[in-house]
Amino acid sequence: MSTHVTARGDDQTAARTAEAGEGGGTAAARETASPELSPATPETAAPEPASGSAAEAERAARFVDVRGLEKTFSGDGAPVLALRGLDLQVAEGTFLGVMGQSGSGKSTFLAMLGGLTHPSGGSVSVDGIDLYALPGERLADFRREYLGFVFQSFNLVPYLTALENVMLPLAVKRMPSAEKRERALGVLERVGLTARAGHLPGKLSGGEQERVAIARALVNEPPLILADEPTGALDSETTVEIMDLFATLNREGITIVMVTHNPEIQSYFDRTIVLRDGRLDCELPACAAETPL
Ligand code: ADP
Ligand code: MG
Repeated sequence: MSTHVTARGDDQTAARTAEAGEGGGTAAARETASPELSPATPETAAPEPASGSAAEAERAARFVDVRGLEKTFSGDGAPVLALRGLDLQVAEGTFLGVMGQSGSGKSTFLAMLGGLTHPSGGSVSVDGIDLYALPGERLADFRREYLGFVFQSFNLVPYLTALENVMLPLAVKRMPSAEKRERALGVLERVGLTARAGHLPGKLSGGEQERVAIARALVNEPPLILADEPTGALDSETTVEIMDLFATLNREGITIVMVTHNPEIQSYFDRTIVLRDGRLDCELPACAAETPL
């Protein structure tokens, strides 16, 4: 499944890959990886048996593991219960769609999967890492190493070129700038934008801006992409192009969780869940008939 990440440039990862053994799957590479991000194992734990395939299957089946997730926003007025106890397991390599009416908690849920908003209750694990048990700076490391975010509004910096926007996540990496440039050009090529690398976002179409945003999400080669209504501002033709691109990335092994209002793109998803009032209402197609989206 995880064949998406190839040669990473940073020292840490080189060390990790070496540790994991040549050709070791990326998940294995990450697991042996930075000790601070590894799932907690007692010091005395015996080494993994060579035939850890059952354990590996279990890990992959619970790549994203959400338990009893709750979020209450308390501001000036009455507290808002945005999530009211959500349980979900997502297997590695899944393309998951998240639907539901406005206000049902979709964006809150996505932000929590990404380590952006602390829950009021429950837990979120990704690849065995209990996100909200991590200290703040480790949570930031997790986001850098595991996640790519794509939003409807693209969030591109208007005075930076497409290439410079894609290079932004590499700013904190200790890597020669020529290599950063090379890597950013590589992902721009992957999203079909080589010819537009020097353009400012304002000179690009909506679909091209979206591609820049996807390239930026990909530049750290994350195993998980979180997308919040990424096609919300696009016409239907461009929506198909962008969804085809996401589908290609998913086939390459990236797990994708995508929030959408658009029932026309459901066919791209392996699974589609529907949220209602902060709860997992049901999963399509079981609830297709009775749940208005
Ligand atoms: P969706 O993405 O499905 O439209 P959200 O997750 O954005 O839903 O919001 C779920 C509920 O939580 C809504 O009632 C919303 O008003 C509320 N909410 C979201 N973010 C905040 C916040 N930062 N402060 C207060 N209430 C919020
Ligand atoms: Mg939303």
